[in-house]
Amino acid sequence: MKPKRIGFTTSMPVEVLYAAGHIPIDLNNIFLTQDAEKHVRMAEVKGFPRTICTWIKGNYNAAVSSSLDEVLGVVQGDCSNGHSLLDMINEEDIPVYRFSFPPEKSYAAMDAEISRLEQHYGATRSDTLKTKARLDSIRKKLLVLDEWTWKERIVSGKENHFWLVNSSDFNGNPDKYEEELDSFMREAKQRDPKPARLRLAYLGVPPIFKNIYDAISELGGDVVFNEVQRQFSMPTLLPDVVKQYLEYTYPYSVYDRLRDIKTQLKERSIEAVISYTQSFCHLQIDNLLLKKYIDLPFLNLEGDQPEDIDSRTQLRLESFFEVHA
Ligand code: SF4
Repeated sequence: MKPKRIGFTTSMPVEVLYAAGHIPIDLNNIFLTQDAEKHVRMAEVKGFPRTICTWIKGNYNAAVSSSLDEVLGVVQGDCSNGHSLLDMINEEDIPVYRFSFPPEKSYAAMDAEISRLEQHYGATRSDTLKTKARLDSIRKKLLVLDEWTWKERIVSGKENHFWLVNSSDFNGNPDKYEEELDSFMREAKQRDPKPARLRLAYLGVPPIFKNIYDAISELGGDVVFNEVQRQFSMPTLLPDVVKQYLEYTYPYSVYDRLRDIKTQLKERSIEAVISYTQSFCHLQIDNLLLKKYIDLPFLNLEGDQPEDIDSRTQLRLESFFEVHA
């Protein structure tokens, strides 16, 4: 059987797609690494309104312009626009599949949802677990890379973001991803530890700003915790695939995220928090609770378009660093 190119809208049990012999492709990564402005423009030409999140527009156009065989959308536990996005993609004659992270977070419900996924793509649970063990061997290396960011101080927050965010699909080729990761880590191992600077957490969905990590670094801060990107790398490494996707915090409530965040803030001796939100995203509401329950200097930055940070955001960052760095 010819492998299918399956686009997906956010992290989900990627081991199933690999186990079935397909090529999973994270639409967010295609959107940002190709001509992002064009993707947004083309979606708006199609009629997507200005007041819809830019990631949705980018994902839509990435999906319809990437010769995909199917799109897998997460319709429960991710984005409030998920169902409508899939309907629009389906209108372009691309088959869609809907995956849900069960809101009740029970073992039985998650097990059933993963079994449904396995049945749809043609993998058995034993195939999935074998593939998971293979992917976990790469994820173990990402745990080391993450430690090198906050403990050894030889990997930057921007590099940490890059490797963890791409672990959602391993760039469609785990062997190649691992080879490149090994080569990066060999080089990083030779570095001297970076001097101590303001230790920051980056919370929220990955940034749409192209230069946010550079801007933070230029002002004297170091991101030593990338919350959601770290979650994409499934850092708990639980051997049971069902338990792993129950431990994954992003699809569940803000309180699940907070438990993970608070543990990491403490362990990593974080001094201040940058919480990123996307314009027109429902997660802006969760951000209110993050701010309420995190007892550290807290800066909320909002991004809209795939561009360098605007002057207002730059100013807000500078004022924050003047007070806290
Ligand atoms: S940033 Fe928010 S609104 Fe945009 S795609 Fe992600 S979850 Fe949906």
